[in-house]
Amino acid sequence: MKQDTFQFINVPRAEPNKTPLHQRKSEHIEIYQEFTLSQAQQQAERCLDCGNPYCSWKCPLHNYIPRWLTLVAEGQIEAAASLSHQTNPLPEICGRVCPQEKLCEGACTLNDGFGAVTIGHLERFITDAALEGGWKPEPLVTKGMTAGKVAVIGAGPAGLSCAERLARSGVQVRVYDRHPEIGGLLTFGLPSFKLEKDLLVRRRELLEAMGVEFVLNTEVDEAGYQKILSDYDAVFLGLGAQTPLDARLENQQLAGVYQALDYLIASNRDQLGYSEQPAIDLSGQRVLVLGGGDTAMDCVRTAIRQGAVEVRCAYRRDQANMPGSQKEVKHAIEEGAQFLWQRQPLGIECDDKGRLTGVRMAQTELAAPDASGRQSVRQVEGSEHLLEADAVIISFGFIPKLPEFMGQSGLESNAWGGLCLEQGVYPQQSSLAKVFAGGDLTRGADLVVTAVADGLQAAEDIQRFLHQG
Ligand code: SF4
Repeated sequence: MKQDTFQFINVPRAEPNKTPLHQRKSEHIEIYQEFTLSQAQQQAERCLDCGNPYCSWKCPLHNYIPRWLTLVAEGQIEAAASLSHQTNPLPEICGRVCPQEKLCEGACTLNDGFGAVTIGHLERFITDAALEGGWKPEPLVTKGMTAGKVAVIGAGPAGLSCAERLARSGVQVRVYDRHPEIGGLLTFGLPSFKLEKDLLVRRRELLEAMGVEFVLNTEVDEAGYQKILSDYDAVFLGLGAQTPLDARLENQQLAGVYQALDYLIASNRDQLGYSEQPAIDLSGQRVLVLGGGDTAMDCVRTAIRQGAVEVRCAYRRDQANMPGSQKEVKHAIEEGAQFLWQRQPLGIECDDKGRLTGVRMAQTELAAPDASGRQSVRQVEGSEHLLEADAVIISFGFIPKLPEFMGQSGLESNAWGGLCLEQGVYPQQSSLAKVFAGGDLTRGADLVVTAVADGLQAAEDIQRFLHQG
């Protein structure tokens, strides 16, 4: 029951405390501390419980946000966790990594002047607190009630989401992944200061308790894929998108020039003790990151923690047009990164001994919006200049790449190399009836939460498909 109708005025929006900056800049741990129960209740009570909750509409999972906020305000954390898990198999992850200002919080009625309800942190709080108290997600049906055996290839957010919903619905699920731990880029791409890795270990244990079987450290090759196709009633492909877009910059192969994901994965594997070789160490170096998305920000903030002497980020549009989350830019600026807006790289420069010296850049101006609605970019004549750097990280985005043998076995690729779903009867079904897919493999590089949504939809589609047979 709501205590104070004017809580949204009397109590300002607040986030949990952040770790002190000097500590933050040297540690690879999450920067936000947890809400206490009373802080969470105070913030949850700010919700107006609008008749038409725009936050839920804008959330790709259509989470029952006002309903779980009411339960938090009442102190019913386990009930809130059960409700939260009805629509989201990974709520503690989405609460941490979603760009809330573009999604649920951006659509909150209070965002217009009063400060949006702190939805992401509360979503994270609910699951963390409930699990710490011993709560576990309940099965949706009695185990073994649903016939069928499903293989999931790829333990990233789409695959985990699909596996969770199938297992909770009583379907037998086995998940294959090439990495030694689940999570895909959640574990090996995202830095620990955004998402600590013990959360994925905890999630794996919960999934195993539901009956999901993981086969890790296993690359599914052509023979393995054919065997999976014949052994299972349905297959879900959640292979992600990790092929970097070609920057087409002169000298981009020089030593000291790195692709963003190579840099982040090496850093995570090293911290997790999985690495055969040490992380790419940028301590003491002048680092220049090219790009304006969240992955670029992850590189910027990792380089700061490694002790780079200068970290700059160059992006060809202005701050308002950045594809990444503004909260990530804010964190990077707080931690000491410098941003160079409207700068376009023209080529990597080296000295006469072939050693990297920096990047030749040009100033840009923004022209009228193009067909996509974004302002196109024009190079300013005569503005060429050199930005000196000891290390350059290229972060221009990623595309999916369907393995060739999957294409040869009848799956269709789309225009950008991902898997095409246009031929399927169900939304996440491919041209091969028993093969379903979702996440970045079918959309191109997108958000964690949209991959989770695809995994849920695929689980629903697969169950319909199994019942048909
Ligand atoms: Fe907001 Fe993401 Fe949670 Fe949906 S899943 S409520 S968009 S933080």
